[in-house]
Amino acid sequence: MAAHPPKKQKIMQKFREDYSKEWNFITKSKLSECHARCSICDTDIKIGSGGRADLEKHIKTPKHVLWSNSLKSTPCVSSFWQKEDLQVSEQLNFSNTFSY
Ligand SMILES: [Zn+2]
Repeated sequence: MAAHPPKKQKIMQKFREDYSKEWNFITKSKLSECHARCSICDTDIKIGSGGRADLEKHIKTPKHVLWSNSLKSTPCVSSFWQKEDLQVSEQLNFSNTFSY
């Protein structure tokens, strides 16, 4: 194994539980620890560089504002959350099947 030169390592921001406390539509992303999932727009947000700031930026995007406004006018928000929970518990399955 070749040793990596000691480059300046960027410290990546990771998802914190605090984020979902602050914004109840923000959940852990399945992509990586450096992503957060917005259950309003159904989008994974990269938070690696800015962390909190990235989320704040996302919340101000027209897409998010539009979605959150349309959700507010929908009475069945609770069923939406339940669906999201089911999706999160899904696991990726890598099945290595070899054809003979
Ligand atoms: Zn969003």
